[in-house]
Amino acid sequence: DLANRMAERSMDVIKYLMKQGQMVRMDDVLEADDAELIVEDFGHTVKRVSESDVETGFIASDDPEESKVKRAPVVAIMGHVDHGKTSLLDALRSTDVVSGEAGGITQHIGAYQVQLKSGDKITFLDTPGHAAFSAMRSRGAEATDIVILVVAADDSVKPQTIEAIKFAKAAGTPIIVAVNKIDKHEADPQKVITDLLQHDIVVEAMSGDVQSVNISAKKRTGLDDLTDAILLQAELQDLKANPDRDAEGVVIESKIDKGRGSVATVLVRRGTLKRGDLLVAGGQWGRVRALTNERGQTLAEAGPSVPVEVLGLDGAPDPGEVFAVVENEGRAREIAMYRQRKTRSAGGGQNVGLGTSLEQMMARLQENQTKEMPLLIKADVQGSAEAIKQSLERLGNDEVQAKIVLAAAGGVNEGDVLLAKSSGSPIFAFNVRANKQARDLAEREKVEIRYYSVIYDVIDDVRNTMEGMLAPEK
Ligand code: GDP
Repeated sequence: DLANRMAERSMDVIKYLMKQGQMVRMDDVLEADDAELIVEDFGHTVKRVSESDVETGFIASDDPEESKVKRAPVVAIMGHVDHGKTSLLDALRSTDVVSGEAGGITQHIGAYQVQLKSGDKITFLDTPGHAAFSAMRSRGAEATDIVILVVAADDSVKPQTIEAIKFAKAAGTPIIVAVNKIDKHEADPQKVITDLLQHDIVVEAMSGDVQSVNISAKKRTGLDDLTDAILLQAELQDLKANPDRDAEGVVIESKIDKGRGSVATVLVRRGTLKRGDLLVAGGQWGRVRALTNERGQTLAEAGPSVPVEVLGLDGAPDPGEVFAVVENEGRAREIAMYRQRKTRSAGGGQNVGLGTSLEQMMARLQENQTKEMPLLIKADVQGSAEAIKQSLERLGNDEVQAKIVLAAAGGVNEGDVLLAKSSGSPIFAFNVRANKQARDLAEREKVEIRYYSVIYDVIDDVRNTMEGMLAPEK
């Protein structure tokens, strides 16, 4: 393909690579940077085609400021099990004013949008839990603008509450606290607020900047306050997108339906998706045959922040994959095939997200893609976790700083692996093991778990990785 584009003979390119000690076959996939060097060495000008915005995901700053208009915030609901995430998602459907005439939000497609009395719109990701959020992030798709942290007032802060806080913080996503179940007589909202302080969530009542709203998902009270808080937060973030361009966005859910074939729910991030558009989503492509919303209505198009079901792809792309509209079939096929090959050569895994190994981290540091080194520590006792954390935090220099995503006591579990994956961090397990589910997940998600029994070894490895960045040429 590369030779073709340069109008050179493919044998010449292969020979060139062999001279450099790289044995490649005709249909092997080259690293973009290698390809760039080859093109230059052959005396051509580099124009990245297979790596257009489709490959690199959304670059929101790409659109000129004046082309952008306000878009609805995309909200995810997180929190501990049984604290009322599902009930809240159900309750929030009732805030929609267009439901009446159109028959309401009847279908679960992975996300839904409500229109409030004021005319403002809010999009909710309709999959409670942390796995979905983290799957999106691990592929680099920042689909969520705001996280609603649901905490039951009769139970207060629990492990998954803390996990949700960590996820949101790692993603840099603002949190709004929804103190739920205030209808219960044992409810103690004040305790929730105080407990959250220990996790760096300081609500406005405590002179912090995190909004907190008391609600009852069951009695449907406080919902207006919650939607007001969301709109205010969205206002602060000044969420905008250019609707007048080819659509780009992220896959929320997908399945193969017996009657309809591939059904993928996508969330448009910028541009407008239209029936008839040629779409590439992950390694799949196709012409959009139909667009349907959560009310089962057929749409002609879907703009920014609008979730929509798409029929017409040739397979089911993974949640979190980015999609984009492309100009012609040749291009669609080319990108889809490129991605499929890339996935295969990555070892059959489905994920092409951030690598988490120390080596990959060093590469990112060296390329100056990051100045922070995210690290996740699990240890046998909290004392060791703290000790390691403090030593690592002292290691930083002007060019790179350790960023401790988590330092906690206990074995490595699935939540740790998801958190590591989404923050691009390896897991440092000090005198603890990973359980089977965590090991399996780590293997699937390509998260590196490193085991240690000597604190000094941990520090050494991190220091060496950091110093790798300071190596030669500078
Ligand atoms: P999830 O696991 O976070 O999705 O929690 P659910 O939405 O399934 O709710 C767990 C339980 O709490 C269910 O029995 C709900 O009926 C109950 N529940 C949820 N919200 C409220 C509330 O505001 N008040 C009361 N009293 N119960 C609630």
